[in-house]
Amino acid sequence: MEAAHARTPLRALESVCCLECGDIYSKPVAGGTVQKNPGCPECGYVGWIPLSLPAEPPVLVAARRRRRLARER
Ligand SMILES: [Zn+2]
Repeated sequence: MEAAHARTPLRALESVCCLECGDIYSKPVAGGTVQKNPGCPECGYVGWIPLSLPAEPPVLVAARRRRRLARER
């Protein structure tokens, strides 16, 4: 039975900073897909760094970005 943990409650939007143009915009915290994470509203770039979370090691961000780019093609 999974009644105890029926669903992870949706958290609010988190503020992220576009790695391309530096624009700050909001995206769903639970976002992981292109649909939930449409990218920067200004330039459309999907690379970003979270403003509300502890900074990630740049290596991880770069690796994730590479994976996203590979998936798009
Ligand atoms: Zn941008």
